Amino acid sequence: MSTLANYRDHLAEIGKLSSAASLLGWDLQTHMPPKGGAYRAQVQGKLSRMVFELATSDELGACLAELRQDGSISPLEQASVRVNGKAYDRSRAVPPEFVEARQIAQSEAQGAWVEARRTNNFPLFQPHLEKMVDFARQLAEYYGYEEHPYDALLEDYEPGLTCRQLRAIIDPLKAEIVPFLRRLATEGTPPDRTAFDGEYDPDTLRQLSRRALEIIQYDFQAGALDDVAHPFTTVIGPGDVRITNRYPTDSPLPSLFGALHEGGHALYNQGFTDDLYTLNLAGGASNGIHESQSRMIENQVGRSRPFWQFFQPVLAEYFPQFAPVPTETLYRASNVVAPSLIRVEADEVTYNLHIMLRFEIEAGLIEGSIAVADLPKRWNQAMKDYLGIVPPDDTQGVLQDVHWSFGYIGYFPSYMLGNLYAAQMLPKIRKDLPTLDGDLRRGDLKPLLGWLRENVHRHGAAYEPNDLMERITGEPLNPEHFVRYVTEKFSDIYQL
Ligand code: ZN
Repeated sequence: MSTLANYRDHLAEIGKLSSAASLLGWDLQTHMPPKGGAYRAQVQGKLSRMVFELATSDELGACLAELRQDGSISPLEQASVRVNGKAYDRSRAVPPEFVEARQIAQSEAQGAWVEARRTNNFPLFQPHLEKMVDFARQLAEYYGYEEHPYDALLEDYEPGLTCRQLRAIIDPLKAEIVPFLRRLATEGTPPDRTAFDGEYDPDTLRQLSRRALEIIQYDFQAGALDDVAHPFTTVIGPGDVRITNRYPTDSPLPSLFGALHEGGHALYNQGFTDDLYTLNLAGGASNGIHESQSRMIENQVGRSRPFWQFFQPVLAEYFPQFAPVPTETLYRASNVVAPSLIRVEADEVTYNLHIMLRFEIEAGLIEGSIAVADLPKRWNQAMKDYLGIVPPDDTQGVLQDVHWSFGYIGYFPSYMLGNLYAAQMLPKIRKDLPTLDGDLRRGDLKPLLGWLRENVHRHGAAYEPNDLMERITGEPLNPEHFVRYVTEKFSDIYQL
């Protein structure tokens, strides 16, 4: 067997085991009865050990070493060797004893976080978080870096991006968004936010989510929609990309925008070709690029004026009380800007500020300029400076996200970058699709999806995010596009 065939075989084996693991993970959160948890954990542990062994085997290493020198393989195969080779090197750089010790500490830290959050007791979580920061620092040393240990961790989520580049993006962004937010609050005319108040039947909301997913061209023949407490999208394999959603009954918006958001992720995954799957490149260019696809469908489409012109009568089919409500009222009410304590509830203007705050804290923790003990104070001060509000307790402040209890440091910036990537793609989309607004007014998402398939989806993880952005828009990541998008949109809505 040729080295390339052997390599492809190896990836196929990993792919099949990972598919089984994804299905078990999806089932765990959607259908598994509570008493099934203990055995399921053992099965999942077994599968992930098998995946890890295959993904770090000497045999795979030998294939990679040979293929790295092989100039005759196709560009996509080269990309596969580059991406999978980097993942291989990083996995091999970390001693198994470290992985095990960290896993044990993670589950302890997670338990402590749940309890600390429940009882609003940061000191209970503090020693665990200190441990997780130490692990993250150690991990950065194993991975290696040139400038900042944060770079080594960021690589897992945004390949090629550095702490220095992030700072260069965040500083000007903050300088624009913070005063703009103040202006909206002091000079703007806020939308009538009561337009969606009411009590909604969850089954009807579920049907509305299905309809919204059909509108955005989500393929139900290659997917499914299930209920869950914390919505997510998961890839089981080619032809099987599943969405989950939840249905709060006091407004139709959270489930609608949840469906559009997860639907945007799913469209990306449904756009991966078989070739990307067999070469293990069917994961998206980065978490941030993945988030750009979900935020584009949720915000640039779902929270746009043309879309609401189409969607108002659709909504009224399910909830007739909206039939007489002007489109403009619904459009404006779906775009209320209000600084919130909780990141996941944030609007388009304030969302990135939540991420900046976390990034600055994380970078400080990793470089040692911020002590874990000072986090509640740092957090509350930053909330006050950026958003103008202070959490009444740590549960709604520094303890709100689960990520740090796993020691996931470097994860948050992707949430912000997704907004920036999407805003940078938009002018190019408008140039290529001059009829975009008209398409949205008719509820025709096919041209937009065709553009995303061609420019973003079909490449999978073959390009690093900055290279992909250059390919698409002619320049690397540039936050000015987001500033322009958000100030134009909300100056109009708030009648500045
Ligand atoms: Zn997302």
